[in-house]
Amino acid sequence: MLVDSHCHLDFPELSARINQVLDLMQDNGVGCAVCIAVNLEDLPRVLALAETWPAILATVGVHPEATHVREPTVDELVDLARHPRVIAIGETGLDYYWHKDAPEWQRERFRTHIRAARVAGKPLVIHTREAATDTLRVMQEEGASDAGGIMHCFTESWQVAEAALDQGFYISMSGIATFKNAGTVHDVAQRVPLDRLLIETDSPYLAPVPYRGKTNQPGYVKHVAEEVARLRGLSYEHLVDATTTNFFRLFPEARLKVAQ
Ligand SMILES: [Zn+2]
Ligand SMILES: [Zn+2]
Repeated sequence: MLVDSHCHLDFPELSARINQVLDLMQDNGVGCAVCIAVNLEDLPRVLALAETWPAILATVGVHPEATHVREPTVDELVDLARHPRVIAIGETGLDYYWHKDAPEWQRERFRTHIRAARVAGKPLVIHTREAATDTLRVMQEEGASDAGGIMHCFTESWQVAEAALDQGFYISMSGIATFKNAGTVHDVAQRVPLDRLLIETDSPYLAPVPYRGKTNQPGYVKHVAEEVARLRGLSYEHLVDATTTNFFRLFPEARLKVAQ
């Protein structure tokens, strides 16, 4: 069984045809997809999906790029994380791509999430783009290793991966691993210890080859697995087995919840 450790099933591209999306998951052997929250306003839709479908689990958090949204408090995140279908806090992190001034509010929001994850006893789902040094520093300062978690859709260098691994985090590969020009991602996909590797779609974005440019969906995580297996010289079955085992090691409560 495959797991898509990061997707956005509540986005209209996917939620509007959720039955088809779930059918392809089943056809491709994807037994679980984690629907990642990006703000509190849309959280009810994320939770409703996870309440309705046994294969869907949820997270609680506010994306680092989200502006004009309600700012969460530690207590609020901890409280929301008590929902029986929620397994993680995020996605959170730092993204300076559209915010070149490296804003303090992003770092404060990130700190809030790390504190909540530590109190809630749930792993973090961390997004980082053009902000690796600050991301690692805030993680260190806030003791993120106590909560652990995932560096999702990883596109940074091996040095950054190593530093995140040192803090106990898992590294998740997306469809970018199937793109020809993604040399850095290929390098990391080959070097991450097999017992710390995860896979995801980040759908509806970043569809893997042969669907590049189209709407992505959790069923396509199969193509991420195929390419990462090829890059590492492993059989597909071995890679699937390792990444799914890793997922349930990081989220022990997920095994029961998916079976429900
Ligand atoms: Zn992200
Ligand atoms: Zn995401």
